[in-house]
Amino acid sequence: GDLGPEQEGLIISHFGKQVDVEVLAGGSTGEIVRCHMRTNLGQLVTGDRVVWRAGVDHGVVVAKLPRASELIRPTNHGDLKPVAANIDQIIITFSVEPMPFANLIDRYLVAAEISGITPVLLLNKTDLIDADNREYIEGLIERYESIGYQVITVSTVQKDGLSQLLAALDNKISVFVGQSGVGKSSLINELLPGVDIKVGALSEQTRKGRHTTTTARLFHFPKGGDLIDSPGIREFALWHIEPERLLEGFIEFRPFIGHCKFRDCKHEQEPGCAILKAIEEGHVSPSRMDSYQRILGSLLEQP
Ligand code: GDP
Ligand code: ZN
Repeated sequence: GDLGPEQEGLIISHFGKQVDVEVLAGGSTGEIVRCHMRTNLGQLVTGDRVVWRAGVDHGVVVAKLPRASELIRPTNHGDLKPVAANIDQIIITFSVEPMPFANLIDRYLVAAEISGITPVLLLNKTDLIDADNREYIEGLIERYESIGYQVITVSTVQKDGLSQLLAALDNKISVFVGQSGVGKSSLINELLPGVDIKVGALSEQTRKGRHTTTTARLFHFPKGGDLIDSPGIREFALWHIEPERLLEGFIEFRPFIGHCKFRDCKHEQEPGCAILKAIEEGHVSPSRMDSYQRILGSLLEQP
């Protein structure tokens, strides 16, 4: 049939052989058009920028534009599959309760760094800080700020610190990751009023015990910036990391990588280890090295 002129669009959701494309320019900006896809495009995912043409009752995507970044997850068959594209930042959410473990936060940071996507740390439930946990929480914040990471602190229930979070989200595509119970759904509901969480990919609670195959969906924050979300994306840190790439996931180690005396240095107790020397000289914290060794151990145990 007759097709309209080529125009640019943004994939906001994906359903098998069809995608929802948001119009990015012209009189219909912001409208969403259900599109079929030309067959030679490879895999299209939420967040992809595409070229599409309007048809009679649906559009046709005719080209995929280059990706600035992609989130890739391993499938059950052992191959790798992109699940979202053009993400600018990964918001690693943790909370005062459940108590965060530095090792788990490091796991998320490594996964983000290896994907080449900027991580931002978000501490929720600051209303639960008390005399018993204050020192531990402040130590954690200091641990990450001293490496150079941004740490935003909020209380979703008290609506505290949200302006700093809104500023960080503006003009960027973000994903929220983090352990169950830290308040991701509460935060997203706060930031996206009016979105029916049962309709989108946002509902985690209602899916407990069921196999989640929901694909990622893109949402616009009313105050600026976009969210890509799906239950799978939230488990991001549990995705596979190649052990050989783990070290570079600890960004403060990077200047020392490749400077060890032995090429196969395991950075445990070898003479001439540049990383151990960096720890001795105070450039790298021993607790991050412990974390590295622990994560490495867990990766090597996996089949
Ligand atoms: P998710 O599993 O990460 O999506 O976490 P939820 O959004 O389901 O939140 C888990 C629990 O933490 C819920 O009972 C929320 O009401 C609670 N919660 C969320 N944000 C806050 C907060 O800022 N302070 C406190 N005290 N509780 C919160
Ligand atoms: Zn070494």
